[in-house]
Amino acid sequence: MISIRGLTKAYGTFTVLHGIDLDIAEGEVVCVIGPSGSGKSTLIRCINHLEAFSAESTITVDGIRVAPGPSLAKVRAEVGMVFQSFNLFPHMTVLKNVMLAPMRVRGTTTPEAERKARELLARVGIGEQAEKFPAQLSGGQQQRVAIARALAMEPRVLLFDEPTSSLDPEMVGEVLDVMRKLAGTGVTMIIVTHEMGFARQVADRVIFMDGGRLVEAGTPAQIFDSPRQERTRSFLRAVL
Ligand code: ATP
Ligand code: MG
Repeated sequence: MISIRGLTKAYGTFTVLHGIDLDIAEGEVVCVIGPSGSGKSTLIRCINHLEAFSAESTITVDGIRVAPGPSLAKVRAEVGMVFQSFNLFPHMTVLKNVMLAPMRVRGTTTPEAERKARELLARVGIGEQAEKFPAQLSGGQQQRVAIARALAMEPRVLLFDEPTSSLDPEMVGEVLDVMRKLAGTGVTMIIVTHEMGFARQVADRVIFMDGGRLVEAGTPAQIFDSPRQERTRSFLRAVL
């Protein structure tokens, strides 16, 4: 589904990603862990070209090359993203936030977009909040709106960048529950997270990054119970 070859990215003379190779299968759930500054966000932002990367690197999503130009819209229509800071449109109701992209990008009619949006909001457990504005919701509710909004485009890939990091602790669980349910639906998910319990439970594969390199990848049991690299072991000792 996603193929990453020799992904290299630099800011000026500072190289942030050093030749990452990674293949992700359709329906796979991959959690990306690693210390601050290791390049986790940069890696997933490259997948929908929110970050440009070096010309020798290649990324393909569902066979489409990720590169500036006309094919980028196709990639972005297939790849949804959920950010740490929700990024909802503050001047639009919850319902309108979820309806917008399908209407603009896919030409979905208003009644169909509304039907779909209400269904998605119910699915993430906030059906009764549709007429509110984002600022009237809790952080956990706002993040669930952001997930519904991403799902409205019927993406085949969902990227999550620390979706629970800005939430109060009591709201983390409700967002992780929604993601846990999604993980069983066949959508390919790449999740940058510090929630090690969630990663262990939900991931098909865990990737540990450090210093812009993919240090180690494996099943949750391999990474959490018997990591091979000393760098992985010391990171896990510090966070677990
Ligand atoms: P965190 O866990 O703190 O979110 P991360 O693993 O997501 O960290 P990135 O945000 O991908 O790390 O950043 C990787 C490196 O790239 C860091 O050293 C960061 O300082 C650097 N970096 C990120 N954005 C820029 C930028 N716009 N200009 C220069 N350097 C940047
Ligand atoms: Mg980050």
